Amino acid sequence: MSSILNIRHDWSIEEIQGIYHTPLLELVYQAATVHRNFHNSLEVQVCTLLSVKTGGCPEDCSYCGQAARYHTGIKVKSLMSRDEVIQIATRAKEAGSSRFCMAAAWREVRDNRDFDTILDMVTGVNELGMEVCCTLGMLTESQAQKLQQAGLYAYNHNLDTSREKYEEIISTRTYDDRLNTINHVRKAGISVCSGGIIGLGETHEDRIRMLHTLSTLPVHPESVPVNALARVKGTPLENMPKTDAWEMIRMIATARILMPASIVRLSAGRAEMSGEEQSWCFMAGANSIFTSESEELLVTPNPGISQDRELFSLLGLKPMQRINNLEKEAVYDLNK
Ligand code: SF4
Repeated sequence: MSSILNIRHDWSIEEIQGIYHTPLLELVYQAATVHRNFHNSLEVQVCTLLSVKTGGCPEDCSYCGQAARYHTGIKVKSLMSRDEVIQIATRAKEAGSSRFCMAAAWREVRDNRDFDTILDMVTGVNELGMEVCCTLGMLTESQAQKLQQAGLYAYNHNLDTSREKYEEIISTRTYDDRLNTINHVRKAGISVCSGGIIGLGETHEDRIRMLHTLSTLPVHPESVPVNALARVKGTPLENMPKTDAWEMIRMIATARILMPASIVRLSAGRAEMSGEEQSWCFMAGANSIFTSESEELLVTPNPGISQDRELFSLLGLKPMQRINNLEKEAVYDLNK
């Protein structure tokens, strides 16, 4: 157990296989122990995700209802105004969110008026005292720097799956493109949010390999979203079987052990999970959820704020205040 109470960046595939395949109750116990050494287990960060530009994306991510090439019936919406976004962020803060993530369905950021509007939004949300995060597709180094200067706290760019599986899921950009953007974000001094999706038809080995890539980065992503595929009609993955909650619990517990100081986010797929199943995810080390006024996570269903409040009250959980685990990593990296 002592070896898993340190932050490590040198995990081998074999070690991760050993953790991932640990009998479930023992795995959850170990993850819960690690969780308590690095975090207040009674706090869960509530993060609001807002789609500021929806649909019409030129990419071909097989799971995504916003890709223009799939007939999903999702209505394309152009970029929202800064004022509208700030009003929503203000209400999100009042409702208990300490982090606000703005998503745009773009392949990459372009240096144009829309990007200037995003920079204004970032500054405005930052001024509210929230952790402000964006997910806008691929970024250059100079765009990452502009976002940092505008007050961006975090940038989300998921690896989605293993390098080996990636080409079956997305053909319009490469795994290395993903890693390059993460690198640009890190170099700009912005915290990294990167995780993946299970239920894409991947093997256990793919999940282990994705976790290996994330947990052997020179600095762990400060935020690691674990998503279950939300099956969207009209996408190539619409007929995949529902992801078993125990698979999510195993994935979350393994991520918690490998990246102990990170916030592990129980992300897409919650709408199909019971309160009991979500509680197991919290026990396994998840310490963040996404919420939105529209009861949607981008374009797929998500539990409503009142349901989450009930669950928090039942479990004695409270929303985490704004955190800064950029420094935490440095502090805990002393192999104490
Ligand atoms: S996941 Fe993002 S990049 Fe991929 S199709 Fe959807 S909006 Fe575009």
